[in-house]
Amino acid sequence: MNSVRPHGDFLRFYVTSSENKDAEYLVDLDCYWGTGWCNCPHFKNRLEPKLAAMALRLNHRIHHEFRCKHIRSAVLHLGQALADELLRGKMKNKENHEQS
Ligand SMILES: [Zn+2]
Repeated sequence: MNSVRPHGDFLRFYVTSSENKDAEYLVDLDCYWGTGWCNCPHFKNRLEPKLAAMALRLNHRIHHEFRCKHIRSAVLHLGQALADELLRGKMKNKENHEQS
């Protein structure tokens, strides 16, 4: 599993390389209609050219098959962070109801 940390900009993350723990890639989930973008060699050399060439046919929707493992890790990280927030909200709500 690649470790993920927020970049600070909207929907951008740093994701560690699984081959070299000191290397990090930049992932931007606000690219290609939510499919995402990554500066790793696999995405830049293999996935992005296909994505760009097929852009019109892809119908501007999210295409999971064009996501490298770093983009997938960032999506998973974001989903878990959202779930954590929702669970915290749910528990807080429950506490408020129990107090009243
Ligand atoms: Zn990548």
